[in-house]
Amino acid sequence: MAVRTSYEVVHTCGHTVTRNLSDRPADKRAAFARWLASKECTDCWKAAREGDSASTEEWLAARRAAEQQAAADWAAQFDMPVLEGPEKALEWGERSRHSLVTAAYTSLVTEGTWDEADWAALEEKIRTITRAGWWIDQRDAEGTDLPELLDAATEADRGTENPFR
Ligand SMILES: [Zn+2]
Repeated sequence: MAVRTSYEVVHTCGHTVTRNLSDRPADKRAAFARWLASKECTDCWKAAREGDSASTEEWLAARRAAEQQAAADWAAQFDMPVLEGPEKALEWGERSRHSLVTAAYTSLVTEGTWDEADWAALEEKIRTITRAGWWIDQRDAEGTDLPELLDAATEADRGTENPFR
């Protein structure tokens, strides 16, 4: 009697796939075929994974676009200068600046002891830092650290244009 090598596997997704299990030890084939039957077929498994990563990508892109819009609106409202740097750093720099500066406002003014005059002085310093990379580097900083970070910024981080227009 020939040893069976070919198994019809009915997967959980409903697809029937004929599998050649000749590369498995003869005494393990039946168990392996049963294990396969407890899973989706390869095509369905791949399709599900690709669907997941596509929707995650879409979700991330939508969230980034919303953050970008919020950062641009904020920059326009508070007369923040356009950032300088490599093309691909500009939007990231804008988002980083927006989130750090709003976090700083919340901790220092809304929840802190600063008044609007203190903040206005800090805002002038914020406007002088136009290197996108500087803002990206500070993306994980605490809002309360912003004044100190601004003081530590170097000439290279400041814009070539006069911010005091
Ligand atoms: Zn399937």
